[in-house]
Amino acid sequence: MRAFSKQMPLLYFILLFNIGFVSMTHFAVAPTWLTLSLPGIFAIFAISRLTIWWRTQFANFTPEQSAKRLKSTILFSGIFGLFLTVWSLMLFPYGGAFEKAHVAFFMAITTMVCVVCLMHLRGAAFLLAIQIILPVSTYLFVQDQAVLTALAGNWIVVMGALLYMVSGHYDDFSTMVSQRVDLENINRETKRLSDENMKLANIDSLTNLPNRRSFFSTVESFVDRSEHTKMGFAIGLIDLDGFKAINDLYGHSVGDQLLIEAARRLSEAIKGKAIAARLGGDEFGLVTSLTDDCAVFGLSICEALRMPYHINELTVEISASCGLAFYGQNCSTAPALIDCADYALYQAKFHSTGNAMIFTESHRQEMQLSHRVDQALRLADIKNEMTLHYQPIYDISTGEIISLEALARWNNATLGQIPPSQFITAAERSPIIEKVTQVLLERLLTDMKRFPENLRVAFNLSSRILASPKAMLQILSTIQKSDIDPRRLEFEVTETALLVDFDMALRALGLLSNLGAHIALDDFGTGYSSLSYVHQLPLDKIKIDRRFVMNAQSDIKAQNIIKTIVGLSNDLNLKCVAEGVETAEQVAFLESVGCHLLQGYFYARPGPTESVLRLIEAENPAALIAAG
Ligand code: C2E
Ligand code: CA
Ligand code: CA
Repeated sequence: MRAFSKQMPLLYFILLFNIGFVSMTHFAVAPTWLTLSLPGIFAIFAISRLTIWWRTQFANFTPEQSAKRLKSTILFSGIFGLFLTVWSLMLFPYGGAFEKAHVAFFMAITTMVCVVCLMHLRGAAFLLAIQIILPVSTYLFVQDQAVLTALAGNWIVVMGALLYMVSGHYDDFSTMVSQRVDLENINRETKRLSDENMKLANIDSLTNLPNRRSFFSTVESFVDRSEHTKMGFAIGLIDLDGFKAINDLYGHSVGDQLLIEAARRLSEAIKGKAIAARLGGDEFGLVTSLTDDCAVFGLSICEALRMPYHINELTVEISASCGLAFYGQNCSTAPALIDCADYALYQAKFHSTGNAMIFTESHRQEMQLSHRVDQALRLADIKNEMTLHYQPIYDISTGEIISLEALARWNNATLGQIPPSQFITAAERSPIIEKVTQVLLERLLTDMKRFPENLRVAFNLSSRILASPKAMLQILSTIQKSDIDPRRLEFEVTETALLVDFDMALRALGLLSNLGAHIALDDFGTGYSSLSYVHQLPLDKIKIDRRFVMNAQSDIKAQNIIKTIVGLSNDLNLKCVAEGVETAEQVAFLESVGCHLLQGYFYARPGPTESVLRLIEAENPAALIAAG
């Protein structure tokens, strides 16, 4: 259609001129209606068609519209051909030989031009040509004049060749057009597929929220924008508390539905204020231009996510914690900003579960310290800088020390004394924890040669160790190579450590337990405390977390938890230790609920081997005598 439209103005232009010239040569000899009126009507018609074609050259028609127009064009060319034939045959009788020759010449070249101009529409070219050639050449033949007969012969031969060439060209042309259409279709399909891939690559298929990748690029683009416009923004990281427990307890299908509902609530809560994304697992992210009242905003999200979830006749309750960080001085790149929000989230999760926390200057200082600890740890001479302190555990019904807990101590050349809460956490972020554990275990086995044999010594195992078969094998072989009876050892593991990879942890504890070592569940009550797994573990002891002991005097809930844990350990035939005992009132309460094994500053702080040995000598003289 487009190729055809380009030729049409030219065709009408030539026709107008040629008809004009013939009218001129016949003006004196033929009637005016033939030389003026008919050509005049044609001119008006041709000029209107010319303008139409001129305009449509640039118009965008659908294939259907184009087909319709081209079909009507074939009809038009038929009518045209008829007009030209009738007009020229009517003019023919007028004038002398030159005028007649002019009409014949006019018809011959006009048909050729028409056929060439119509070559993109074979039907039109053929219809027009045949409609002119047949009657006009017949007319020339029947004139019975040798020159006119020869002229008709010339004309037919040339037109035959021309139509043949136009037909060949038309075939090539239509093949080219259909190939181009195919190519366009392929391109369109390719683009559709790549758009779809783009969408899939940026959308989380479970919740339909943007995914992690999309979140990071959104944060990047906000950072870029803020660099130019100086407009502030904040990002938030949201983590569901206790989601893993729901997943383990009720299965993945319930977990999935919970995530879908959480995503829906999140989208609802942030509507018009932020962009949300699912970062993976039970973690969500948001980017917001809000800079005022961000804490309130964060809290409203936590509240929306905290409402009970009704899934398949189940009612599930979980909470969500949120960490927020503003783009600014210390969080000026996308990764730094995400780190800051992550830190705030971590603080919210561990110090204020179910709430929103904003990254502050003091968080930044803590973070820097933790970076320094990370660095110092990488460079540390662990063997020489780390030692163990021991804290006794008393049986208050006899007043004697029944066991010790080994606690790591690190004295670094540049940073000084660093508490284990910091360096163990730092070490756990990397394989350094394996080295630290190995060094400390060797130290323990050496120190134990000096402790009475009837005193069990507890050693803390981190989650990373429990999850690493290589580290566990190293521990087993270190114990077997030492002269220490494994039955004198106890390993403390936290609930959260078990959750990293429960099956792996179960196997690791089985190995230790088979050696004869005892296993204690540390910080009980802080993690996910599901009874469903307690009985699967080869446990000997449960340690009540010191947070409950600390609150035992004032908080009825803490008291009830302690009572429940004591009851549970009695039922399961496990020993129960309360840690972090600091006051006589706590001792009295614990004793009243039947908890006799106590550990805490009230009795003794952790101390080096020498001082613990002196303590044992004072409190358990019998044990030392027995140890020889
Ligand atoms: P944990 O296993 O719960 O150890 C008990 C912590 O409570 C120790 O802190 C101990 O000093 C402290 N504590 C004992 N009695 C009291 C008390 O009456 N009041 C208060 N406020 N605290 C008391 P520490 O030594 O700072 O260790 C902190 C944590 O670091 C440990 O908690 C344990 O999770 C980890 N840790 C320590 N040593 C090791 C180790 O060798 N390996 C591993 N993996 N973790 C260790
Ligand atoms: Ca412990
Ligand atoms: Ca503990």
